[in-house]
Amino acid sequence: MRPIDLETRYSARNYEPLPVVLARGHGAHLWDTGGRRYVDMMSAYSAASHGHAHPRILAALTAQAQRLAVPSRAYYTDRLGPFLAELCTLTGLDAALPMNTGAEAVETAIKAARRWGYRVKGVARDRAEIIVADGNFHGRTTTIVGFSSEPDYRDGFGPFTPGFRVVPFGDLAAMERAIGPDTVAVLVEPIQGEAGIIVPPAGWLAGIRKLCDAHRVLLILDEVQSGLGRTGVWFAFQHENIRPDGIILGKALGGGVLPVSAFVARREVMDVFTPGSHGSTFGGNPLAAAVALEALHVIREEGLVERSRELGAHMLARLHAIRSPAVKEVRGKGLWAGAEIDPSYATAREVCERLLVNGVLSKETHGTVVRLAPPLVIASDDLDWALDRFEEAVHALGHRRTHPKAA
Ligand SMILES: *Cc1c(COP(=O)(O)O)cnc(C)c1O
Repeated sequence: MRPIDLETRYSARNYEPLPVVLARGHGAHLWDTGGRRYVDMMSAYSAASHGHAHPRILAALTAQAQRLAVPSRAYYTDRLGPFLAELCTLTGLDAALPMNTGAEAVETAIKAARRWGYRVKGVARDRAEIIVADGNFHGRTTTIVGFSSEPDYRDGFGPFTPGFRVVPFGDLAAMERAIGPDTVAVLVEPIQGEAGIIVPPAGWLAGIRKLCDAHRVLLILDEVQSGLGRTGVWFAFQHENIRPDGIILGKALGGGVLPVSAFVARREVMDVFTPGSHGSTFGGNPLAAAVALEALHVIREEGLVERSRELGAHMLARLHAIRSPAVKEVRGKGLWAGAEIDPSYATAREVCERLLVNGVLSKETHGTVVRLAPPLVIASDDLDWALDRFEEAVHALGHRRTHPKAA
């Protein structure tokens, strides 16, 4: 069987991949099994921010794999400490708890916030409430999808974990109304990724910080996708000059080769964990720690944050300059943009299929948004080439209104 047929025959149907079979990657380029080259404008939802097969990260991976990979956290290793220290220095926080996937680090943050609520704030047993935002994406565990507002993520997976309250994203007054005596944390993405690269009004995050301080509530930011340079700063919270009480990192932390995530927090928050209260067989293993530490060093030493800021400003300026009725809105920060496609012209999926045919890989989100989020190492002429292809695609669409405009 051909790869697509084989994968379709034996996989769960939980993805709907674009029709391309990838076999190789290097930097911002991917090649299919026929040897055709594509520019990656998706970077695996930011997991491949360093580009594919980064030589320094591969060197760290292979060197550490030959020394020691997975001894478990029943023992200390010579790799974990330096990695956690770097995470704390970068975030300005005190302690880090390593996990593997983003969802696990979100679960870790939820457990920390609840226990902090009971043991430090003094909330009555089983009353802790966490406020989240409408349109959130924090992963796929049963607890996390339980507070999603997206029916596709939830339907058929209940009953759900109680203790979450959903407020509109970007609405400070609604946040203030939702905070009560049992509120232990606000958990939000500084910019919503899966929702379609939704940028909140300036001052929203700083306003939440003030509310949290006034009501003794933890501010926990999910920067699994927005963190590590994606928005043109190390962490998106730096756009508002605030410091969260906890931050969740993942995706790019694994340097594009391994799943590595972490919850990083103030000491008072992290200290609610005691031996036995939380853990992960693979979390913090020396292979992951060595790769993640190198991934952080590469971001700094190759100036990837500055690249994201400069190339991102260029990308957004080009996208904003597109005059096409098919593009309703362009949003973003750094090398992270979402282009809202008018559904009366095409679905975002159709745009992505056209881009694929023309040598650019992207992925739609929520039916109407084309995301443009290349590896931060992308060369500026590759970026311009991909943006040329995007412009062509939307101009071609602008001439054919396919579906009758919905009322
Ligand atoms: C991708 C993502 C997650 C989940 O990460 P996984 O590694 O897929 O579990 C959580 N939060 C945000 C903001 C994400 O973008």
